[in-house]
Amino acid sequence: MMPYEEALDIVLSFCQNLSTEKVFILDALGRVLAEDVVSQEDKPSFDNSAMDGYAVRWEDIKTATDRSPVSLKVIGEMSAGGEESFVVERGTAVKIFTGAPIPEGADTVVPVEYTEAKNGVVFIKTSLKEGANIRRRGEELKAGDVVLKKGTIIRHYEVGILASLNKINVEVSRKPRVAILSTGDEVKDIGEPINKPSQIRTSNNYTLLAGVFSAGGTAYHLGIVQDDPEKLKSILSQMEDYDVFITTGGVSMGEKDYVKTLVSELGVDVKFHKVRIKPAKPILFGTYNGGKGLFFGIPGNPVSCAIAFDLLVKPALLKMQGAKDHLPKTLKARIKRDFYRRDAERREFVRATYWWEGGSLVCDFSPKLQSHMLTSYVGANCYLVVKEGVKEIKEGEEVELILL
Ligand code: AMP
Ligand code: MG
Repeated sequence: MMPYEEALDIVLSFCQNLSTEKVFILDALGRVLAEDVVSQEDKPSFDNSAMDGYAVRWEDIKTATDRSPVSLKVIGEMSAGGEESFVVERGTAVKIFTGAPIPEGADTVVPVEYTEAKNGVVFIKTSLKEGANIRRRGEELKAGDVVLKKGTIIRHYEVGILASLNKINVEVSRKPRVAILSTGDEVKDIGEPINKPSQIRTSNNYTLLAGVFSAGGTAYHLGIVQDDPEKLKSILSQMEDYDVFITTGGVSMGEKDYVKTLVSELGVDVKFHKVRIKPAKPILFGTYNGGKGLFFGIPGNPVSCAIAFDLLVKPALLKMQGAKDHLPKTLKARIKRDFYRRDAERREFVRATYWWEGGSLVCDFSPKLQSHMLTSYVGANCYLVVKEGVKEIKEGEEVELILL
């Protein structure tokens, strides 16, 4: 059976970059930048004060102390956005507020808490380093600097950075179009009546729809189809309309597991079926549309579905959008109690939680870990990775985690 890394490499090797489009910066949230963004100006664009206080000449205050303060004549006031212009000569100071331009002649700002003002005079009660509390023009960015690189995933911080650069519209990858289809005679959509004890409520459709949205894609809900080859085939034949087509259920070894046969008949070039992971072992991956379309047949158990999405589908969606940072993120922590499993053949991804305790990261796994128990994600923030061949992990051992 194929190891996880190999399966991931195969999937990623078929991810072609999507075309790009220009969108308003708020619509770029969660999407991938398709251009280098360059600053048009220095930042800050003028020297300004980092504190509320007094703009002074350092020569005047370099010996000031609490016991022998220096007195300076206050010749005016500069507020943020103020247009006044002053020249600070020896023996004078300008009252200044955070963000206000530094008046000519001044080279240092003394914070207000080290001063006392009386009748147009300010007493400076401390010396500071020359240049203290001044934000210098260009200290953050110079005109022409590349601020954000192509391939960056845009979070709210980047939206703010784009705004600060007056970049109103930005080039991003178009969203991958992803179809979601569940299979199973027993599976009912939300809101549908359940009138036989053998029927179950879907979670997979919605786990995947939400997962696709959170990975910057557009998800199309094709609903739930019965385990009926004709019906299934007619929906699967719409595959070419999408960049990615995902089914859940019907991909294992059961008699009604038609997905593999049908997609092969429809021209999907199957690259692998079964990966040495637990859960989600029977996952199927192939390409269509001359290698441009990606097909994922994910097993129906709700945890398998979520894990297959996190470990194989999401990296693919991000890579298609050109994201540099498309791989799952890992951490190490010490496990809080023994973990044991009987079958060590596959790599297992165990829902777990990590936190900071006594100066290091520790983790513990969720209760009720079977693959039909989606509530193992409640409160979880990572997968504990149990490698192939490992049966037992002892309390205190260092383990690898994948962040959710
Ligand atoms: P399958 O992969 O079709 O053999 O299904 C494996 C298990 O997942 C069965 O217990 C199914 O009832 C369950 N299952 C299938 N589809 C879904 C779904 N959309 N949501 C939740 N559970 C499902
Ligand atoms: Mg089924």
